[in-house]
Amino acid sequence: MAELIDGRAISKALLADVAKTVEQHKARGVQPKLAVVLVGDDPASAVYVRNKGKRAAEAGIETADHRLGADTTTEGLLGVVRELNEDPSVDGILVQLPLPPQIDADAVLLSIDPAKDVDGFHPENLGRLMIGEPRFVACTPLGCMKMLEATGTELSGAKALVVGRSTIVGKPMAQLLLAANATVTMAHSRTRDLPAAVAEADVLVAAVGRPRMIQGAWIKPGATVIDVGINRGEDGKLCGDVDFATAVERAGAITPVPGGVGPMTIACLMHNVALAASRR
Ligand code: NDP
Repeated sequence: MAELIDGRAISKALLADVAKTVEQHKARGVQPKLAVVLVGDDPASAVYVRNKGKRAAEAGIETADHRLGADTTTEGLLGVVRELNEDPSVDGILVQLPLPPQIDADAVLLSIDPAKDVDGFHPENLGRLMIGEPRFVACTPLGCMKMLEATGTELSGAKALVVGRSTIVGKPMAQLLLAANATVTMAHSRTRDLPAAVAEADVLVAAVGRPRMIQGAWIKPGATVIDVGINRGEDGKLCGDVDFATAVERAGAITPVPGGVGPMTIACLMHNVALAASRR
């Protein structure tokens, strides 16, 4: 049976560290602040925003919610971001995705001051990661790295496979593993033999968005498995991209869903806000 990688416990420890940093900022008269912009009324986004608010409060971070109507234009949203960029009391800006279809999401993400881009999605921050000088690292891959560190997984020289190549998860994840001296392979929808690629991996990160797609029988015995996927299975329950029931029998360590990567993502966002406040 694999060791369970407890994202709730690891994120709690990280949040406690963030709270200490926030205290230090406050002692020098700086109150770290996160501005959250939510456009429209997507119920899942509203839940994420609420959870972020709760974790921020626990860490002593102030949040300011900016709720805009579903009919907001790109120009209107750019105007809000511009104001937040210029507001010296705001350390971090988070524009909750997805945005309504009429909005040019790339233009909005590009307009966020890279020094306030606590999500780490701005091309400047992605580029910095690529050249080995990271500032804000995207929260989900950063959370995955912190879990690998917490479990003592040896990355140097290890074979790592990242399944999924999105800009917000798969690609930065691969960069982080590469920086930690793993030999990294990326798989995606055109990969020919995914089971064979999975079988080689000492470290597997799944970020696909397909319920229980990766079978336990594919996994190298003893491998460390990080499951980023958050899906609704046919039974209506939340599940990952990895078939947990079979994978737990073969892996050396594995994250559960829920209770794995999800809480780490939010804790890393708070870590990034505390980091952003260092600039003041
Ligand atoms: P995207 O939809 O942007 O990317 C999915 C990736 O999976 C793509 O690169 C796609 O390949 C690849 N893919 C699709 N089908 C297959 C397949 N059959 N075999 C191999 N690869 C495949 O998703 P995200 O990266 O945004 O998110 C991935 C998952 O992680 C989702 O379940 C999401 O909900 C979850 N998530 C969880 C977070 C957390 O905090 N825990 C945060 C962010 C995301 P191609 O590029 O070829 O299309």
